[in-house]
Amino acid sequence: MVRGLFPGSFDPIHYGHIDIARRAARIFDELIIAVYDRPLKNLLFMPGERLSLVRTTFENDPNIKVIGYRGLTVDVCRANHAQVIVRGLRVFSDFEYEFRMALANHRLAPDIDVVALITNEEHTFLSSTTVREIASLGGDVSSMVPEHVAQALRRRFVELGEGHNIVPQASLRD
Ligand code: ADP
Repeated sequence: MVRGLFPGSFDPIHYGHIDIARRAARIFDELIIAVYDRPLKNLLFMPGERLSLVRTTFENDPNIKVIGYRGLTVDVCRANHAQVIVRGLRVFSDFEYEFRMALANHRLAPDIDVVALITNEEHTFLSSTTVREIASLGGDVSSMVPEHVAQALRRRFVELGEGHNIVPQASLRD
């Protein structure tokens, strides 16, 4: 049984992530989507909410399981018997980061491999940062995220009210 683990912050999950997850689920016997509990990022959603949005997204995908995690990705792979880390690659800027991460993880755990799937053309521009930014300005994100995620975004920005500073503080990478 070959199990893949797709780690990420998913703040929030969007169609680019979903496409990578479903394609990986066709390659591996089981795909575990692992939602970081405390990534080094300024997050819009709390870990429990990101987890629940990802769970709802894949509730009808029989070989996709969703977990939350903190700590090293390779430790979570070992604990869940996953032999492969799955990542998505958009444009060249992703490559350097993913390359560094893959080599670092390989140094920590030579028995665990990294497989990077190339994004589908139509999702090349899509990032959680873009989704957050458009949603924070009241834009239509219905072509970028499932409806339950769009609803959660609307709710979250109402909760935050005017003057929040979450969106401009994007990660260096996306
Ligand atoms: P992280 O904080 O680990 O980068 P993200 O949620 O931003 O978490 O991304 C998780 C994974 O999904 C990363 O490998 C990222 O490159 C990939 N990804 C993000 N957006 C897209 C997209 N539009 N198409 C394909 N892969 C993507």
